[in-house]
Amino acid sequence: MSLSLSLRKDIRKARLFNPMRGFEMEEQVLERRFDPLTGLSTFVVKGRFQYVEKYFNTDKQLLERLIKTSKSNCPFCPERIELATPKFPKDVADDGRIKVGNCVAFPSLYAHSDFNAIVVLGPKHFAYPKELGADTLAEGLEAGLKALKAAYGASPDLAYGTIIMSYLPSAGSSIIHPHMQALASNAPFNHQRLLLIKSYEYYIQASRNYWVQLIEHEKKAQERLIREGNYLTWIAPFAPLRSFEVWGVLKEPLTPTELVSRHLAELADGLSKILAYYEDRGILCMNFALILPRFGTSQEYFNPQIRVCARFGLIQPFISDFWALATLLHETEVVESPEDYAAELRKYFH
Ligand SMILES: [Zn+2]
Repeated sequence: MSLSLSLRKDIRKARLFNPMRGFEMEEQVLERRFDPLTGLSTFVVKGRFQYVEKYFNTDKQLLERLIKTSKSNCPFCPERIELATPKFPKDVADDGRIKVGNCVAFPSLYAHSDFNAIVVLGPKHFAYPKELGADTLAEGLEAGLKALKAAYGASPDLAYGTIIMSYLPSAGSSIIHPHMQALASNAPFNHQRLLLIKSYEYYIQASRNYWVQLIEHEKKAQERLIREGNYLTWIAPFAPLRSFEVWGVLKEPLTPTELVSRHLAELADGLSKILAYYEDRGILCMNFALILPRFGTSQEYFNPQIRVCARFGLIQPFISDFWALATLLHETEVVESPEDYAAELRKYFH
């Protein structure tokens, strides 16, 4: 069977008389790309980053002010964390919290799903993305995964988990102190469900693991491949759903239980390189999600994977990147092609 995937790319054109050019006829080329697994589409508008770059930046003075004013009653700072943060029930963690290195996991005070842990990434009230470092990120991921494993051990219906991060308010975080969250429920989260179902259907129809085939394709094409590691392959997706989106895909369809420190260390190392790349481009705000298959069931169709993306920054006039087209029609526009930023990112992975 061929290792190539068919990647659908429609070239579309918008036509207008442009007042900036004396009302000359202008044709703007938009590539509409379709994800080969999910069919979800995205408009790739190359070379428009310059125009929107200012929205990705963060106002450092405003950020420093927020850091200062939030520090005095931050529940995640070392002087308050013991008394101000909740504890797990005994069947999840004997002494109430899960500690890995500098990182601490405990229940979210306001649960967003039936299992919801916060993982505080070290004692420092604020760290710029580059200061977070691969070691702290690895400890955070390990604490999050330990929490998910413990939750599943205590309640086997908590079989669908994820570890996510929202960095800074415009990426959705209400607390400045860097943290991740681990969430689980008895049914998958929406995009996790879509990926699991589509991967399973692909496996049944093609008798192949889609993710293994995708990586083979990208290795051959050499357009969006960023780095092949020991356990993970890093690529820019053909049809990114979010800005500067990068995927780190485990090479094997491991269960969450089979994910261990060596996988997380490589994952955190890649993540820290992506954050460094973002920061060098003036992008601080970001999200990631580690998407996992179901706990407790061996399977051959879905490889655990992390998805990382850039978000608009904390800067006046506080434009959100979730405008109506994205929020209600789930349609995306990205302003730089994945091939271009993959080439940039390769330099960070060597
Ligand atoms: Zn703090």
